[in-house]
Amino acid sequence: MKYSEKFRVNPGSRVRLDRIDAAFKDKHEDQASALVELEKYTQQLRELQYLLYAEGKQSLLIILQAMDAGGKDGTINHVLGNMNPQGSRVYGFKVPSAEEAAHDFLWRIHLAAPQRGQVAIFNRSHYEDVLVSRVHGLVSKKVWSKRYEQINDFEKNLADNGTHILKFFLHISPDEQLRRFKQRIDDPARHWKISESDYKERKYWDDYSKAFEDALSRCSTAHAPWYVIPANHKWFRNLAVSQIVVEALESLKMTFPQPSVDIGEIKEKYHQAEEEAAARNNGKVKGKGGKKGKK
Ligand code: AMP
Ligand code: MG
Repeated sequence: MKYSEKFRVNPGSRVRLDRIDAAFKDKHEDQASALVELEKYTQQLRELQYLLYAEGKQSLLIILQAMDAGGKDGTINHVLGNMNPQGSRVYGFKVPSAEEAAHDFLWRIHLAAPQRGQVAIFNRSHYEDVLVSRVHGLVSKKVWSKRYEQINDFEKNLADNGTHILKFFLHISPDEQLRRFKQRIDDPARHWKISESDYKERKYWDDYSKAFEDALSRCSTAHAPWYVIPANHKWFRNLAVSQIVVEALESLKMTFPQPSVDIGEIKEKYHQAEEEAAARNNGKVKGKGGKKGKK
């Protein structure tokens, strides 16, 4: 199944999250059955990212948004962690610093946009400014309601300048969130992830859902589509995200750059260097023998 088609929010359509099954897992029974496919995409992802880096002409921006415990960290670790760190960077967006807050909301985002040849992964993003800011009234409706258009214009500018944009909403159910909160309590290695705000924010589930539905509906565009990824099953989420990223990278029709040197000439230079090295090595062997003989 082509997940890009199945999960893409078609521009102009209205998303209803309660009608999308967060536990969807396609034809797969469990993780084991998806593993072969996942490994194939993982390998392709590595190769394509290497090509993106080598070509150095275009860039990829991956935006991850979700409710708390929705799996943003896990997606970065399992799917995108397979990329070469030399050509990829992850940015986590927290409550804006004083300096960030003193600028327009897109300022810090633009600074983190990927250079040509690079992949940037956003763990949260400018969408927080129409999510948490809207749900908690951090700014007035007059302010946040203008942001959808500002976001579309901003993303269009990036896209027109060679940045391919993919936006993933990792969709979990409220029950799954609670199950993950329980896991965090039960596993001491996950205690550090627990935050008071998890429980506070959970009470705003419906408000967040509405805010997400608006963001997904109003900001899914041809140049920067949103994908709603069923994410109750972590392994299915990883499979779907990897397939979509691979397909997007393939569509960029990248090629290795032409060598900056004449390969024929370089081959001659190589052979010359090889002969010189052989001559030097022969000399060394004789030289050593000679020294030994003197002792
Ligand atoms: P975490 O990703 O769990 O480390 O949490 C980061 C926190 O920063 C979340 O509570 C976000 O809602 C918050 N945050 C991120 N961006 C913004 C923003 N633009 N305005 C207000 N809060 C934000
Ligand atoms: Mg958190």
